[in-house]
Amino acid sequence: MERNTRQREVIKQVFESEARPLNPLEILDLAKVSLSRVSVATVYRAIKELIEEKWLTPVKISGQPLYYERDRHHHHHHFYCESCCKVFEVEGCIPVKKLTPKGFSLESHDILLSGRCPACLKQ
Ligand SMILES: [Zn+2]
Ligand SMILES: [Zn+2]
Repeated sequence: MERNTRQREVIKQVFESEARPLNPLEILDLAKVSLSRVSVATVYRAIKELIEEKWLTPVKISGQPLYYERDRHHHHHHFYCESCCKVFEVEGCIPVKKLTPKGFSLESHDILLSGRCPACLKQ
């Protein structure tokens, strides 16, 4: 039980320090820095619990495994780096209502920006 709590705390810290959506393998790699014994199963269990507690929420990037981010209930979008596969939060939105054809009722929208992040552009 105690080890479980420690692992969860480390996983939370990983999200706080990275401040971007992470997939389970990224979480595993980053958690390994502070935890000697951590498995993919542990990471998945922690993710499941943190989603139930509304601390994390899944981020769907088409064609990619699920990413997860802090559940902050604010409207935003994402940038996907095609080079390093990292996902970043993008603040703000565009006037999607203007794009909606006449006679249609807009219920939701999904915008994904993709390209290369600053770190990859430097290489
Ligand atoms: Zn990149
Ligand atoms: Zn939007």
